[in-house]
This record gives sequence, C-alpha cells and structure tokens, in this order.
Amino acid sequence: MAEKKKMSLTMKILLGLVLGLITGVLINTFFKGNEVVDTWLVKGIFELGGGIFLNLLKMLVVPLVTFSLIVGVCGIGDIAALGRIGIKSFLLYVLTTAIAITTAIGLAMLIGPGQGFDMQSSKAAEFTAKEAPPITEVFINIVPSNPVATFANGDMLGIIFYAIMVGIALLIIGKAVKPVVQAAEMLNEVAMKLVDMVMSVAHIGVFCLIAKTFAEQGIELILPMASYFFTVLGALGIHFFVTILVILFVLTRFNPLTFLRKMRSAQAFAFSTASSGATIPITLQCVTERLGVKNSVASFTVPLGATINMDGTAIMQGVATVFIANVYGIELGVGGYITVIGMAVLASIGTAGVPGVGLIMLAMVLNQVGLPLEGIGLILGVDRLLDMCRTAVNITGDAMVSTVVAKGEGKIDTDIYNDPYAGDIDFDEELDISDEDEEEFARVVDDPLVKK
Ligand code: ASP
Repeated sequence: MAEKKKMSLTMKILLGLVLGLITGVLINTFFKGNEVVDTWLVKGIFELGGGIFLNLLKMLVVPLVTFSLIVGVCGIGDIAALGRIGIKSFLLYVLTTAIAITTAIGLAMLIGPGQGFDMQSSKAAEFTAKEAPPITEVFINIVPSNPVATFANGDMLGIIFYAIMVGIALLIIGKAVKPVVQAAEMLNEVAMKLVDMVMSVAHIGVFCLIAKTFAEQGIELILPMASYFFTVLGALGIHFFVTILVILFVLTRFNPLTFLRKMRSAQAFAFSTASSGATIPITLQCVTERLGVKNSVASFTVPLGATINMDGTAIMQGVATVFIANVYGIELGVGGYITVIGMAVLASIGTAGVPGVGLIMLAMVLNQVGLPLEGIGLILGVDRLLDMCRTAVNITGDAMVSTVVAKGEGKIDTDIYNDPYAGDIDFDEELDISDEDEEEFARVVDDPLVKK
C-alpha cells in the first residue's frame, strides 16, 4: 500500500469547505454591507470561482452518464440482470424515501415545531409555487421523443432510457458493433479523466461556493425558524447515521464507517453545490473507485438515484408539513399524514435533483392535503442551508442503494471497499502527460495522411 505523504484529495476538499465556511461567516458578521467586500469578494471572486466550478461539474454530467451507461449495459451482457438491477434499485429508492419521510413526520410530531409560532412577527417571504408536472407526464417523458433535445436539455431520465436502449441494441447486434462498444469504452475513460481534471481544482471551487453562500446567508435567519431548522437537521441526522448505515450493514455486512469515510468528498460536493445532479460525476467516482462497485451497476443506479431518490428532500417535506400544519392550527390526522408520505415519494420521483426543487415538491404535497401554500414563505429563508444538508443525504442514499444492489448481484470488489486509499487521486501521477504520448500524438497529427 502506498505511503501517503501528500494531503489526500478528500482532505483538501474538506479543508476548502471548512475555510469557506469560516470566511463566509466572518464576512457576514463583520463586513455585512461593506461595498468593497461585497463587490470584489462575494459577488466578484467567490461568485466567479463558484460559478465556473459549478459549470465545470455540470459539463461532465451528460457525456459521463451516457458513455458509462452504454458501457455498463454492455458490461452486464445480460438483459435479465439489467431488469433485476432496475427493479431492485427502484424498490430500494422508494422504500428508503418512505422511511425517511416517516422518520421526519414522527420526529416532528414529537418535537412539535411551529407550535405557538407568532405569525404576526414573522416576516414570511412571498412564495409563488411553480407548477409541478403531473405524474403521468413524468412517465411519458421518460421516453424521449427527440433524443437530441433530451441530451441538449440534460433530461436525466430520458438520457438514461436512451443510453440503455442503445446499449441493448449493441448487445443484440453483437460482434459486428464491437468497435462501437470499444469506442464508448474509450470515451468513457476520457469522461472519467475529465472528472479527475475538474477534481484537481475542487478545493478552490468548494471554498468559493461555500464562502459566498455563508457570506450572504446570515445565521440570524435561523433564529425565528430554529425549531423547524433543527427538527429537519435532527431527522436528516437520524436518516444519515442510523437508517442508511443500518440498511447498508444488514443487507451487505460491510463496515458502515468505511462507507461514510469514502463518501466524504461526494458529500462535500453535494453540500457545496446543493445539487445531486451536478454531483453525479463525483458520486459515480466515489462509488466505483472508492467503494468498488462495478461500473455496470453504478452507471445505472447513481444517475437514477440522483434523479428519483431524495431521502433528504422527503425529510424536509415531512417536517415542513407538520410545521405548517402547526403554525396554521390545522389538524391533518393519520389519513392526512399517509397521503403526505405517498405524495412525497411520488414527488421525489417526479422532480429532478437541482437546487431548491424540494420546495416545488413541497407545494405539491401541501396542495394535496389542503395546507396553505403561503406556509412555504415561512421556511424559505432557511431553505438554502437545509438544501445543502439534504442534498448530501440524498447522494449518500444513492450510494448506499448502489452498494446494496451491487452486493446482491456480486458486482462489487470488496478489496477496493476495504482499502482505505483506493481511488483517492494522486494528481501528480494521474494528470501527468507522458513525453512519449506527447510525441506520439504530435506525430499522428502531423502525419499528412491523417491531415487529409
Ligand atoms: N437540491 C436537492 C438535490 O439536488 C433537491 C432539493 O431538495 O431541493 O438533491
């Protein structure tokens, strides 16, 4: 095992996160309203660094998911196994979301956030609910009528569907299209290398994103909402440290702490970006290279999970529903809460993993049980911070299900899972351009035959 002299990638990212947090809070406390700091630092350097980094991440998603899925489907080589993986992961995703929201409602009923809440003194922000798509439309749209548009829009479910169909077609044709499969394999490797390249600046990007968010979001926002805020955090904590780890242990017998440790960099990304979708490349890398799940499973379960599995978001909805019901003095009753659980599960399937989307889903849930949508205005102020936390929980759930499904299918390398250093990138080595390759490419490109 190589001795680690340099700081590991995960440590660098976590350091970026902590320094960003401290910087942001200091700016918010001591330099609030200072125009120079605001213009040059928060809306200048931090916004620039964070924005570029976020786009770099998003840039990776579509090609990576496409090629790794095509390679994954061909790698499974057995359509029945593909169906089994699909059904198992779907059921686990639905089950974990249902457990998450039940935990949240239970804890919220115990703590009772919002009881005795003073509506008059609260400064509820205006919230206009965006339309959530009807569930039938969600299912129809999984099948892309125009794949080019689907890819251009980054519609994850459509992309997954199309890539799987292409993979199956390649399998059916067989030998004649072997070069296409090989090309997809090579392009997948290029896509993974791009992830490494973006990761090499991740600590700077994470620092900028976090510093900007905390410089703008005052901690004082939390105070009037403390009961709601900490109930959500509590339920997220239970799901993160208990439910996910217990399910992982019971179904795989793997060490849950190793799992948590190896997911840290992806969690830091999810926390900084508040987007499961933008974090897909990193989740995929952690799950395959650090946890040892084979690409044939992870290429399917990770993007699918980022799109339909939102345990953390469901938790926020559970607590928010109880909170809003308490604030407005409305009794929901058992039937009401069962409806909430069902709706939240459906909503998490129907909405994509992007920042703030949880609130749109919440509007759907509130509508269904007849709670006032204005209630969302109350929790808007603290939503950004909670969004960061719940996104980290969301992607951890995706990784857990990927590990469980891979274990069941015999598609996990336990040596990699147990090796503490597996997959931690050493950039000097990984991003080195060899002289030999440089010369070779220069020669190929210079070749008049190639130029023609
Ligand atoms: N930001 C969350 C995610 O991407 C969704 C949400 O809760 O708004 O997973």
